[in-house]
Amino acid sequence: MLPEIITKVYTMNNLQNYTPSPAHNSGDPAPPYEIDEIMLMFGDIFDCINNDGTIKPKWELDQMGLAYLPFTIPLAACPSIEVDKIYCHKKLISTFTNVFRIIHERNLRPYVRSYGGCFNYRSKYNDSRLSTHSWGIAIDLNPETNLPGTRGDMHPEIVEIFQSYGFEWGGSWKRKEKNPMHFQWCTGY
Ligand SMILES: [Zn+2]
Repeated sequence: MLPEIITKVYTMNNLQNYTPSPAHNSGDPAPPYEIDEIMLMFGDIFDCINNDGTIKPKWELDQMGLAYLPFTIPLAACPSIEVDKIYCHKKLISTFTNVFRIIHERNLRPYVRSYGGCFNYRSKYNDSRLSTHSWGIAIDLNPETNLPGTRGDMHPEIVEIFQSYGFEWGGSWKRKEKNPMHFQWCTGY
């Protein structure tokens, strides 16, 4: 691991042009820190919110894309539906693809039991601020057994794979906010 000072090579000004590289390497820029950096890298969502609180279609059209999965995952809300792609931020397509490729290669598929969702315009759980799901930079897995406030049962190798690609794990947050189903590609928010 390179020291933070070397890995964090970007400046606030070039974040909006940055796309995470398809192959993970330790020299890659760090995920955005706090709301200002999230908006620079992944878009100014407040620009697309209508005055009835809904989101303009432009947001999804401009920002979201599909990451194809190497295996299907039952949809948590309707397990007869086998999810084979993730609707996420365009800039994270290769990152999500790589994470699930590694999960597949390490035979950890049985531990990904259900898909709770990725892009979702909404507020954070127990918080008035917008969720990172609104930018399509967060994913929920196995929500049934990884509810907020619990320790959950996320497989440590799955946590390690997400973290190696720059994701923060909600299970590592302090007790009140702990959310073990949740992984997000940003920090400090
Ligand atoms: Zn989540």
